[in-house]
Amino acid sequence: MIAESFAVAALICLDPGHGTPAAIGRQREPIRPGSRVTKIKDGGGAPGEANVVLAIARRSRALLLRRGYRVAMTRTGTTYRGGNVERARFCNRRSAALMLRIHADGSTDPSRNGVSTLYPERLRGWTDDVYSPSLAAARAIQRSLVGATGAQDLGLRRRSDLTGFNWADVPVVLAETGFMTNPEEGRRLRSSGYQWKIARGLAMGVAAFSPR
Ligand SMILES: [Zn+2]
Repeated sequence: MIAESFAVAALICLDPGHGTPAAIGRQREPIRPGSRVTKIKDGGGAPGEANVVLAIARRSRALLLRRGYRVAMTRTGTTYRGGNVERARFCNRRSAALMLRIHADGSTDPSRNGVSTLYPERLRGWTDDVYSPSLAAARAIQRSLVGATGAQDLGLRRRSDLTGFNWADVPVVLAETGFMTNPEEGRRLRSSGYQWKIARGLAMGVAAFSPR
């Protein structure tokens, strides 16, 4: 018997953003473990974002399963009753190789468009353990997302203020897959064909970062 045949495939934790009922979304939670600074659980996201990112996550799951990964999703339906602490803990408990948060952007400027990938700031005692692999994952995801969609490359953004990053004990990134508020990009984001393109980009990025 060969030990490798028993190796368990890497688990990718997909976290489609939002979908939280307003009464829960307005509740507050600590921005970091032990912190007195709090943020709301969910501001609701851009109009239409919750459904679009769920559709992208479902397509990404199908492609990742086909590549041989295990996949968990923080939500598989339209509603999520937790906050970002719960989302991170869900992925931590499963020792995910990557927590991939999927979002779409909004702006008061309808001309803004393009994709970016967020990754955690290096915070001692919180994210210093996941900083380097998260940055590596962000680079891989952003490159393949731009390649698969042809969208404008808005690059990487380092963030210290995201609850879902600061509670993660596993590598974590957040893909902003386009602007819901741009008429052309918003229309594409709502189309099944473009959602598949994004999903292919995300799956390729995952494969580049974390071989199964
Ligand atoms: Zn969002």
